[in-house]
Amino acid sequence: MTTFDELPVTCAVCGTTSVHPILMSTNSFGSPDLDLRPAEMQRSTVWMWVQRCPQCGYCADSLDKAGDGADAVTASASYREQLVDPGLPELAVSFVCQHSSSNTPVDLPTPDGRQFTQLGFVTTSLSTNELATFA
Ligand SMILES: [Zn+2]
Repeated sequence: MTTFDELPVTCAVCGTTSVHPILMSTNSFGSPDLDLRPAEMQRSTVWMWVQRCPQCGYCADSLDKAGDGADAVTASASYREQLVDPGLPELAVSFVCQHSSSNTPVDLPTPDGRQFTQLGFVTTSLSTNELATFA
């Protein structure tokens, strides 16, 4: 069974507090897909794997953590353009921006490869309408 709660999280970049769903528990029965998407029920939690600050647009696993330089990346013109990319669903944009904002010299808990895999989950799932309600 998947459980989640909604809790306030303070953005490490701009200090804004906003409420986000926090995954409390889930399970995964069966093998992952060939693209490494986890089996259900974990698969359906993808919309909780990234948080976006409603004020500055910073995207991360958890908004309360940011590496050095995340504020500069978040304020950059290229990041701001990516944040409003009309060519991708909002959730996919959040994963792309998460990768951009964590692409700093500081080690963050999420490796780049996993973030791209997550983006693949989102775009593949959206194309099959699995996550249409979360887009
Ligand atoms: Zn922020």
